[in-house]
Amino acid sequence: MPIGSQPLVSRPLFPARRPGAHNMALIVQKYGGSSVGNPERIKNVAARVAKYRADGHRLVVVVSAMSGVTDGLIKLAKEIMPLPSEREMDVLLATGEQTTIALTAMALHALGVPAASMTGAQAGIVTDGVHTKAKIHNITPKKIHDRLNEGNVVIVAGFQGETPDGAITTLGRGGSDLTAIALAAALEADLCQIYTDVDGVYTTDPRIVPTAKKLTEVSYDEMLELASLGAKVMQSRSVEFAKKFGVIFEVRSSLNDNPGTIVKEESKSMEAVVVRGVALDKNQAKVTIIAVPDRPGVSASVFKALADAAINVDMIVQNVSHGSGKPTTDISFTVEKADLLKAQKVIEGLKATLGFSQATATDGIAKLSIVGVGMRSHSGVAARMFDTLAKDGINIDMISTSEIKVSVVIDAAKGEAAVRSLHKIFIGT
Ligand code: ADP
Ligand code: ASP
Ligand code: MG
Repeated sequence: MPIGSQPLVSRPLFPARRPGAHNMALIVQKYGGSSVGNPERIKNVAARVAKYRADGHRLVVVVSAMSGVTDGLIKLAKEIMPLPSEREMDVLLATGEQTTIALTAMALHALGVPAASMTGAQAGIVTDGVHTKAKIHNITPKKIHDRLNEGNVVIVAGFQGETPDGAITTLGRGGSDLTAIALAAALEADLCQIYTDVDGVYTTDPRIVPTAKKLTEVSYDEMLELASLGAKVMQSRSVEFAKKFGVIFEVRSSLNDNPGTIVKEESKSMEAVVVRGVALDKNQAKVTIIAVPDRPGVSASVFKALADAAINVDMIVQNVSHGSGKPTTDISFTVEKADLLKAQKVIEGLKATLGFSQATATDGIAKLSIVGVGMRSHSGVAARMFDTLAKDGINIDMISTSEIKVSVVIDAAKGEAAVRSLHKIFIGT
């Protein structure tokens, strides 16, 4: 089914049809890296899937690579060369998920449950050709339907697809979430469950603040901000996709049966909370171009060159001009750590035409953010955040805001302590 501009799913997916013995549903489940991290965990996933199937449901199960496998593959490639071909990176990275689909299918067979594994390409996931962060163009899930109709549980490799020309692509780190949400939309699933190693979405990373609270529900916009600001529990592009196609999903644990967090459209009552969560992104790096001529078109050339290299730029700060006659300025911007080398190369390539003095780069920064739809109707939130950081002696390097978030760039070494301070002030624990 093509994924176009029309919402594929107009009815709520959750909790309108909670699974139960009398209510046969098509369920998309996704299990992340730690949920399939060893043979015992894979057997545990198979047991949960088998239980849903025994209740009469049809299941499409998306799995990630076993925990550490994707990182291990990236490390291997970097040992060969620092900037490997992105096409070959995708060929390499896709093997992680391919291992898990086969093992998960075998674990179901061991329980006597018919199951068939499928790579992203076999599942009909067609993407553009932007290797290592491809976008899904459309999904033709005919083969998934065929396998389901034969009575199988279908196990799909997350994080991967193929171009119309048949090149293997991957969907960006954490991309198995996107595979699950996109399949839920394309299959018009009744339920989409994202199983992970925490009970749901918390007010902040529970590894940093053990007293963080589990959210019963969170709006797409808040989840999107939290995810893109570093709460790695969901890949941000997957949340964007869910919002676009109205896929309601639940984030829950693969290790227990506790109810998780429902992610859905905003409701009136959500506005009462000013700060829903605190996020820390340690995956950021900063480039500063020093003494760039201050004339029209300079920023345009810098950011066009970065965009042409498919590098996503996040925050940008340009200082006031200094020097008379031929004024110059400094431009700083942030990118993902993984793109830092590439970004440096692009900027160095502009040196001759732009004539700046030098470019510096650091990955010793972190982005710290507070998020909440309630900020739209409450003032003074940013001031309170800055005041809290000042009291802790934390210097703010860059600032950016939207109507539902405030983000600052700070020294990475102080990131976790700053999360704890902000959580105490805004959430209360
Ligand atoms: P998976 O392998 O299942 O995709 P991830 O490791 O990608 O899981 O994401 C789950 C992790 O996200 C948790 O272990 C937790 O440490 C981290 N995390 C960060 N922020 C949050 C948050 N606000 N709520 C829940 N988990 C969070
Ligand atoms: N294995 C991929 C990663 O580690 C995709 C995912 O787990 O969602 O980023
Ligand atoms: Mg993940």
